[in-house]
Amino acid sequence: MLNKFTTVYSANSVADAQLILKNIAGISIIAGGTEIARRQTGRSLHLPANVLALSQIPELKTMSKTERYVEFGPSVTLSSILQLGKKNVPDVLYDAISTIANPAVRSLATLGGNVSAKGQRLATFAPLLALDARLEIRTATDAYWTPMARYFTNTGRDQPKTPEFIDRLRIPTENWDIALYRRIGHPGIVTDATASFVFLVKSEKNILSDIRIAYAGKFFFRKREFENLIIGRSLPLDAKDVSILLDKAEIFFSPALFPPSFERTCLFNLLEDALRMLL
Ligand SMILES: Cc1cc2nc3c(=O)[nH]c(=O)nc-3n(C[C@H](O)[C@H](O)[C@H](O)COP(=O)(O)OP(=O)(O)OC[C@H]3O[C@@H](n4cnc5c(N)ncnc54)[C@H](O)[C@@H]3O)c2cc1C
Repeated sequence: MLNKFTTVYSANSVADAQLILKNIAGISIIAGGTEIARRQTGRSLHLPANVLALSQIPELKTMSKTERYVEFGPSVTLSSILQLGKKNVPDVLYDAISTIANPAVRSLATLGGNVSAKGQRLATFAPLLALDARLEIRTATDAYWTPMARYFTNTGRDQPKTPEFIDRLRIPTENWDIALYRRIGHPGIVTDATASFVFLVKSEKNILSDIRIAYAGKFFFRKREFENLIIGRSLPLDAKDVSILLDKAEIFFSPALFPPSFERTCLFNLLEDALRMLL
């Protein structure tokens, strides 16, 4: 049951949605509604006064693939991404989605909603961050592309000043020699301990040609400077390299963002396990 003070605006096209954004100040976005519902415990669902529903806009439910990337509309459901099959979806994204909730929730929950969930980063966030996903953002009057890493911050800027929504997600489809997704916390539910870790590695002639390390839980992390410390090294690494890199990681995973905690310990254990795959 919905609380009676909410007006839900249903748009049939992106142009419609933009018009609504323009005319209704401070309107909030809803897609599948599962995350908004998950955060509530009362008998009726409490929504903001004005809500724009995106889930029925056909343009926002499209999926396409080129040689270099896959593109998803934000209202594509998690189950329809899994239905594409593992060969059509980057491994770490597919693995992440497989751990989310259950088939019933995944048939409503959308990729855009999972990435945009506030407070705690959900399962697809670290994979998309590691894969260098780009987002098309639609404002009331405009559209622009931005790297996902630039759009979201750890400092609560997530609430845009004027309402806007993710219109498309573009994800490069490169081949990785190692594509590891690890989840902290129980699969199928979100708790305070829920977090994700992604490790991607590419090598050419035994030289590490690219590496990506991303983490997302209460905070998220990806630092190209740290990855650059590893790129260019010869494989296999030796044990001394791994311990030097772990020491350096202490500086990059700043205690201001990651205070000593269970979460920080998990992160360092995951990082050590991942780097040991290169020995
Ligand atoms: C029982 C249950 C178990 C769950 N287990 C897991 C789990 O194991 N792992 C996990 O990761 N998640 C889990 N979830 C959360 C679920 O995956 C997410 O709720 C879902 O992906 C969110 O998608 P949605 O379309 O329902 O988002 P909504 O609830 O509609 O929206 C979530 C947020 O995203 C914003 N938003 C939505 N679409 C857009 C857009 N296009 N542009 C900008 N902002 C947008 C909304 O404003 C809102 O702030 C669980 C949820 C439930 C109910």
